[in-house]
Amino acid sequence: MNDIKTQQYESLLVKNGLKRTGARLQVLDILSHRNSATSQPYLEHVVGKDIDRVTLYRILKTFEEKGIIHRVLDKQGTANYAICSNSCTEHHHHDEHVHFNCNNCLRVYCLDDVKIPPLKIGGGFKIEDMNLIVSGICKECNQAN
Ligand SMILES: [Zn+2]
Ligand SMILES: [Zn+2]
Ligand SMILES: [Zn+2]
Repeated sequence: MNDIKTQQYESLLVKNGLKRTGARLQVLDILSHRNSATSQPYLEHVVGKDIDRVTLYRILKTFEEKGIIHRVLDKQGTANYAICSNSCTEHHHHDEHVHFNCNNCLRVYCLDDVKIPPLKIGGGFKIEDMNLIVSGICKECNQAN
């Protein structure tokens, strides 16, 4: 891990009132070094020998509550995790962007610049969160062909 990055992760944890543990830093490091969201099976595979499953789930849950990461279910129903933009805070996520699920490599990408348009639904329904998954072929798979 490079030192500057480590400091950034540490201050992110401190800012959120979380203790700096090696396991938390490792999870942050993995999630922020990928250009797509990280699937739960991949994460388990990578940290497998260092962090037990219960600890990993607890870390992910805490990060999600603190507004550090958001969870996206792909078309197969697998959980994927991505680092949030700066506008997310504890219990208030603002991740109303489109997610792209590649049909070929199955990766999930956050399209941060493509916002889900505000929806007007009346009739006593109150929106609490929105998900929009677009699927197709991602740029990496597109280039490979
Ligand atoms: Zn968020
Ligand atoms: Zn792909
Ligand atoms: Zn996202």
